[in-house]
Amino acid sequence: KLQSSHVYKSFGDTTVLHDVSARVHANEVVALIGPSGAGKSTFLRCINNLQLIDSGCIEIDGELIGYRRAGEVLHPLPDADAARQRARIGMVFQNFNLFRHMTALANVAYAPIEVLGRSKADARAAARDLLAKVGLEGKEGHYPAQLSGGQQQRVAIARALAMDPTMILLDEPTSALDPELRQEVAAVIRSMAEHDRTMLMATHDIPLVRDIADWVIFMVEGRIVEEGPAGQVLNDPEHERTRQFLSKMS
Ligand code: ATP
Ligand code: MG
Repeated sequence: KLQSSHVYKSFGDTTVLHDVSARVHANEVVALIGPSGAGKSTFLRCINNLQLIDSGCIEIDGELIGYRRAGEVLHPLPDADAARQRARIGMVFQNFNLFRHMTALANVAYAPIEVLGRSKADARAAARDLLAKVGLEGKEGHYPAQLSGGQQQRVAIARALAMDPTMILLDEPTSALDPELRQEVAAVIRSMAEHDRTMLMATHDIPLVRDIADWVIFMVEGRIVEEGPAGQVLNDPEHERTRQFLSKMS
């Protein structure tokens, strides 16, 4: 599970995350919604240790992210430890970020071989299983350019799963997809929320949130305005600001 407590993050004079406290339980899909510039992607990048928070703390399964504790003081992790931490958190980006010159199978097997030191044979066998799991049996030898957007996104998801992360972050996982491909990817995301996996996705896709999210966090200008069960926040929000945002989105 993920726990963030009183997280602050600024870029220069701009405070992008302002006292963000949130929890994501295992086996749950949590959706982070809010207007452009709210800080959604920044929050995901901080959780994944791509960026360091200024104060507060983020813990995944009790492990502090980005820092180590020395008494009362927090010290940023050395690069090697930060990289190790990052490797255990799956991140799926909006534009898939696949290696263009590698087949689907090689994309999925790459990090287990290079980062975890798995044997090529084992990593490839596991990659084959994962690709089948996301409905891409028979596409193992295809390059990204030979796959549709929805298929590429599913390869990206399989690639994140290949590291067997306890936490998976998705940033706008469906934004590049047409409605039909959206369905495929939504089903795959939903099916990942098992085996003690903790899932947080930032999205503008309200129908997707309605379909697969258990919990919704609504953020504006770096602050959490409202959160609650998906049905409640989407159908009967407490705050006027949430109501306004949702009425513009549908
Ligand atoms: P969108 O819905 O458009 O993806 P978002 O909620 O993901 O928006 P962020 O990308 O987290 O928003 O950006 C939040 C704010 O932080 C924006 O005002 C942005 O300009 C600023 N910001 C993000 N990254 C940096 C950076 N590296 N340097 C300076 N400012 C940044
Ligand atoms: Mg974003």
